[in-house]
Amino acid sequence: MNAEIIAVGSELLLGQIVNTNARFISSQLSELGINVFYHTVVGDNPKRLEEVIEHAEKRADLIIFSGGLGPTKDDLTKETIAKHLGVPLEQNDDAMEYIMTFFEKRNRKMTENNRKQALVLKGCEVLRNENGMAPGMLFENDTHTYILLPGPPKEMQPMFQFEAKPKLAKRVSDGGLIVSHVLRFYGIGEAELEDRVQHLLDAQTNPTIAPLAGDGEVTLRITAKADTEEEAWGLITPTRQEILDLVGEYLYGVNDDSLSSKLADMLIENKITISAAESLTAGLFQSELAANPGISEVLYGGMVTYNEDVKVNQLGVSRELIDKYSVVSAECAAEMAVRIKEKFGTDLGVGLTGAAGPAEHGGRAVGTVWIGIAYGQDEPLTYQLNLQGMRNTNRIRAVKTAIHHIIQ
Ligand code: ATP
Ligand code: MG
Repeated sequence: MNAEIIAVGSELLLGQIVNTNARFISSQLSELGINVFYHTVVGDNPKRLEEVIEHAEKRADLIIFSGGLGPTKDDLTKETIAKHLGVPLEQNDDAMEYIMTFFEKRNRKMTENNRKQALVLKGCEVLRNENGMAPGMLFENDTHTYILLPGPPKEMQPMFQFEAKPKLAKRVSDGGLIVSHVLRFYGIGEAELEDRVQHLLDAQTNPTIAPLAGDGEVTLRITAKADTEEEAWGLITPTRQEILDLVGEYLYGVNDDSLSSKLADMLIENKITISAAESLTAGLFQSELAANPGISEVLYGGMVTYNEDVKVNQLGVSRELIDKYSVVSAECAAEMAVRIKEKFGTDLGVGLTGAAGPAEHGGRAVGTVWIGIAYGQDEPLTYQLNLQGMRNTNRIRAVKTAIHHIIQ
């Protein structure tokens, strides 16, 4: 099954909002092994919307719409689709009742145009909206499946996940089930990873393998369709092994793991306490770690030593060392790690220093980052990074790379 996602809304074209709905729906569809070949954005204009639908019908079996289900004049999605398909709109009693209770509960008066929201395509399956009024719809004819979802993400996301997705899952699995398993990699580029597993990507049918990259991480989602869970794992396991034989050294986690959750688990399990002295990342390392529940047992804290005098006077890095090697150097990162570890009395100390950009820093080119890791009485380890991104991307990459080095 191949899908196209059509986001309707002039705000999207005007650059006022970002099309996060398409991203969400795409990632959900990949869990079902449904390929998304196109994302389309169109304004609140029935003629152009119809053109887009005609186009989509030529290249997709499943067409998913977001936006334009509301009660106002510019909300024209279902009217346009109804006209295009030659299917009338009719009032849905469940939807009407739901809208009436929605108003009663809030003690507000219902207006006539709210009735419009209870109109659905004749013969569709209604998708309940738990967080708003406009119901969604799933409509099928001989050639295509159409899904209509509201625009606001807090309405659209649960509707897709809990109403539409199970119905789609049934269709793609022919009554069987779908199991997927995500492999998470760090320290290898998307292109290189894809290159190494290309022959598996080319040959995939069941299970399917979908690569996804972002923020320096690469994931491969393996999705199998089968009659039983056991049978699905029977398909996934050999493929997983083939992938790991090729790129297993870069694997850091699976499914919902994140780099920081892996580090948190490792620290908590082994009762290793940690502190950090952060320059370019200014607290981001600690903030990432703090996202994990239970971390207070092991994360003692740290210092943001952005300024050179603060590194010297508060943290205790020697001025001579900075003058000799630069504030962006292996020596400085190691010294920061050792000092913070001593100051906070932790097992592990981390130092992060670098030139985030856009200007060079400490005589070092933009993107140069040094990470220092001091553990117990061991000689501190240092790692250099030469990043190519924008300022904040570099800061995030520095944090992720530091975490990756610690968990390795
Ligand atoms: P409403 O009943 O709120 O009018 P609707 O289904 O008619 O809902 P729209 O009017 O198209 O949806 O959009 C309502 C709001 O939903 C937008 O102002 C925007 O905040 C959000 N939204 C719409 N489309 C998207 C999208 N593709 N990605 C992210 N947010 C979106
Ligand atoms: Mg609207």
